[in-house]
Amino acid sequence: MTRIGFVGAGAGTAAAAYALRGTDADLTVLEKSGGVCGRAATRRRNGYEYVYDYGANYVKSEDERVTRLLTEELDTDGLVDVTAPVWTFDADGDISEGRDADDHKWSYERGLTQIAKRLFAATNATVHRRTRVPRRHRRRSTSSGTPPGTTTSGGRSSRRSRPSPTGVS
Ligand SMILES: Cc1cc2nc3c(=O)[nH]c(=O)nc-3n(C[C@H](O)[C@H](O)[C@H](O)COP(=O)(O)OP(=O)(O)OC[C@H]3O[C@@H](n4cnc5c(N)ncnc54)[C@H](O)[C@@H]3O)c2cc1C
Repeated sequence: MTRIGFVGAGAGTAAAAYALRGTDADLTVLEKSGGVCGRAATRRRNGYEYVYDYGANYVKSEDERVTRLLTEELDTDGLVDVTAPVWTFDADGDISEGRDADDHKWSYERGLTQIAKRLFAATNATVHRRTRVPRRHRRRSTSSGTPPGTTTSGGRSSRRSRPSPTGVS
């Protein structure tokens, strides 16, 4: 059995775990915070009476795989397609009408964290919350060729993170 560990339970990890569903891989996720979905974050008060996303706001439909994922593969209970423009406010508190450029602006009545919750729920991944990984150790380069970005010891990778495969917007 292949054992795979993930640092962080953001949408990226949730999507990767989802892609590995149905394999025999044993997936373990270590997440420092108390919730999943990272920067696509939802807060709530009084149960779900007040729900607000303070990170990413909605998922676009630019990629048909994302559309299929949200509207066909995952549970659509509470899925919302925002049809009106999303108004914004800037650092000075000035409110503007925002843009109305996207065909679909999907979120969930219970907030955008639902996307990670639903992705993880479809997997066998074990998610350990409030578990911070203090440091990543990397092997030194060998003549056999360690992959780029894994050659330093204890330092930060020079690799850039890529956009979330879930298309979180
Ligand atoms: C205000 C805002 C607006 C945004 N708008 C857009 C947009 O319009 N379009 C767009 O494409 N994207 C947008 N994004 C970005 C989008 O939210 C991210 O691309 C996406 O959520 C990133 O997912 P991720 O899984 O890659 O990383 P993250 O969501 O950052 O997840 C990383 C996870 O790792 C955890 N973690 C970090 N370090 C450790 C550690 N040492 N140990 C354990 N866990 C750790 C974190 O707690 C987090 O849960 C926006 C983000 C914000 C904040």
